[in-house]
Amino acid sequence: MTQATQPKTHSTTAAFEALKCKECGAEYELKASHVCEFCFGPLEVKYDYEFLRRTVTRETIQAGPNSIWRYRPFLPVATNTPIDVGTGMTPLVQSNRLARRLGLKKLYIKNDAVNMPTLSFKDRVVSVALTRAQELGFTTVSCASTGNLANSTAAIAAHAGLDCCVFIPSDLEAGKVMGTLIYNPTVMSVHGNYDQVNRLCSEVANTHGWGFVNINLRPYYSEGSKTLGYEVAEQLGWQLPDHIVAPLASGSLFTKIYKGFQEFVEVGLVDAKPVRFSGAQAEGCSPIAKAFEEGRDFISPVKPNTIAKSIAIGNPADGVYAIDIARKTNGTITSVNDAEIIEGIKLLAETEGIFTETAGGTTIAVLKKLVEAGKIDPEEVTVVYITGNGLKTQEAVQGYVGEPFTIEPKLDSFERALERSKTLDRLEWQQVLV
Ligand SMILES: *Cc1c(COP(=O)(O)O)cnc(C)c1O
Ligand SMILES: [Zn+2]
Repeated sequence: MTQATQPKTHSTTAAFEALKCKECGAEYELKASHVCEFCFGPLEVKYDYEFLRRTVTRETIQAGPNSIWRYRPFLPVATNTPIDVGTGMTPLVQSNRLARRLGLKKLYIKNDAVNMPTLSFKDRVVSVALTRAQELGFTTVSCASTGNLANSTAAIAAHAGLDCCVFIPSDLEAGKVMGTLIYNPTVMSVHGNYDQVNRLCSEVANTHGWGFVNINLRPYYSEGSKTLGYEVAEQLGWQLPDHIVAPLASGSLFTKIYKGFQEFVEVGLVDAKPVRFSGAQAEGCSPIAKAFEEGRDFISPVKPNTIAKSIAIGNPADGVYAIDIARKTNGTITSVNDAEIIEGIKLLAETEGIFTETAGGTTIAVLKKLVEAGKIDPEEVTVVYITGNGLKTQEAVQGYVGEPFTIEPKLDSFERALERSKTLDRLEWQQVLV
């Protein structure tokens, strides 16, 4: 649990140079730290873009692995052998039926509900954070999680042979808890909400010398989300979309998709083009949406109360940066209530065959709301980010889906049930019509 001396970082294909304060620009060594000593601003990884421009092409990327590591020169790790558990390169699905239902012509779904190994976008950030944790000499890794992050940290730590202790709020869905315990980490289930868990973890990070992926390793961790920008650009045939819609918890993912697009323009991999950034929150925890709607540039923390637990962060670290991006790109940040979130989950499942969790339901419901408000042009190439899998949050839709017909293993029993199912269909249609 000691931190090794600074490793050599500028290998032949690594371009990361320093940690840099997002507020005052002060630069720091590439260690495990996340806050500026002068102004307490967040630290971010800085790269040598000239070097990237000279050494990276579409072809070098396409010759790489079928995972996030095809973009390794843009990620803050020095090793040539990162932890690769097949994370990334998830499908970008062109939507037909959902698009038609909403009245959109060019809608794409980035489907991280099937990301490897734990079925959420968090596998991206954790693959990067744990690779960097190993480089920095950490032997125990940890996180403050709303659920998916604990799944990813525990799974990828198991794969890499790292000791792991994760912290979660005690009211998480059963699937999220089991999806962590199975990897046999130490799990601390904390009586409190995510923001309280996070505060506790900041203290533990200071006293135990562990690598907390989203605290002292946060500058490296958050870079993993850029791959959601890179992949979409590559999968669209090396072009940027016109509009993206993504969920916001801390706001990090949202800001890093933006950084990913910008970097691809900067090094000449795609043409520059304005991309609108719109964000989705759950009404029961919508501090970023509220600040956006009220035209504020500061966040008033809230106490979360929503079924969308994976994005329930009351005091979002990157909220102000997310607001800034939505404003300057002519996007918007808005929220939907729990009933709309459930409808969003069902709508995506019934039109596209994708079962997403509450965060995805939030994003689909916000997409629908934006279309209805005329804030998405039907001709825009719109990408909606689905970040997690519905099998992990089954509680959310319990009671809102149909039930199986229980029958005897006999033909007449089946025929009777089939008749009943047709009657039920008719009844549902009658309900729709009245
Ligand atoms: C964590 C999470 C997010 C958002 O993460 P931030 O980077 O903190 O905004 C979105 N969707 C799912 C499913 C998540 O688990
Ligand atoms: Zn600073």
